[in-house]
Amino acid sequence: MSVPRTLRGDEPVREDKYPPKGYVRHSAESETIEVLADTWTYLIIREAFFGARRFAEFQRKLAIPRATLSNRLVHLEKNKILRRVGKTGEHKQYRLTERGIDVYPITLGMMWFGDKWMCEGTPPLALFHKTCRSWFSAKVVWRETGQPVDAKKIFIRIPKDYWIPRPKKTIRQRRATWSGDVQGRRPCSAERMLSVVGDRWTFLVLQELFHGNHRFDEFIHNLEIAPGILSGRLSNLHRAGFIEKSDERGGYHLTQMGLDSYGPMILMKVWGERWVVRENQRNFDCVDPEGRVVNPVAVCSSCGGLLNAHDVSYVCNYTPPT
Ligand SMILES: [Zn+2]
Repeated sequence: MSVPRTLRGDEPVREDKYPPKGYVRHSAESETIEVLADTWTYLIIREAFFGARRFAEFQRKLAIPRATLSNRLVHLEKNKILRRVGKTGEHKQYRLTERGIDVYPITLGMMWFGDKWMCEGTPPLALFHKTCRSWFSAKVVWRETGQPVDAKKIFIRIPKDYWIPRPKKTIRQRRATWSGDVQGRRPCSAERMLSVVGDRWTFLVLQELFHGNHRFDEFIHNLEIAPGILSGRLSNLHRAGFIEKSDERGGYHLTQMGLDSYGPMILMKVWGERWVVRENQRNFDCVDPEGRVVNPVAVCSSCGGLLNAHDVSYVCNYTPPT
């Protein structure tokens, strides 16, 4: 494999840019995406936020094949996002756990992104914040400063054990190609975003762009991804409008749309750190230009308050499935 040109010292290298030989990124986001980003998995969590509890309810509202639903519910129980309440049969219900409820800010972040970039006309849902009694959209901001998250204005500080030895087994390449069909029966801005990034490889490539990588050989070096698979994922991101190719600057660069996806992506990182990867240990710090460590949160565009599922109601701008 060729060594990326910048590894040879042509320009200063960010400390989070390249893994040392034999190591990979220990990434909260990539483990999170394994848990959350399968589209059906996400849609089941979303219906749980909408109040669905029973197997038949999920099945009816999503028009999801029975076997697929069973399989995803097992996955969600195993990953402690849903818990089963009651015994078998009619009484069996699924409830969100604390970890499941904590997915809510990510949902709002993806909804904001989808409303802004992937929706023509009126957004599918109008959100109401009960705390300030206002209609709102979610904003992803740094909790410490209130500034909107901006991938271009942030430095990444990594701990000593940030890089982990590359696993012996090769990464599962479950899908050589990814078409990203929308599966749900509700129009959903978050699902539209997932139709692009809800695929492990696409997600990992996008993440590399946020870590300052732009070139085809850099992606190959960092991810050990097969060139054919990488080409396909780059075309998807390009077609969806997240990246553009620039001969002048070399390689692939995030568009404004791609940069805006940083908000929901960084919320996934926080969720992963809290619940999946290292149980509240830092995977890396975001440091703002003034040197402050900052953390992302989803807030109400009207009052600036933190958002949680209990304080938000909504109106559908479409006829909901019964
Ligand atoms: Zn508010």
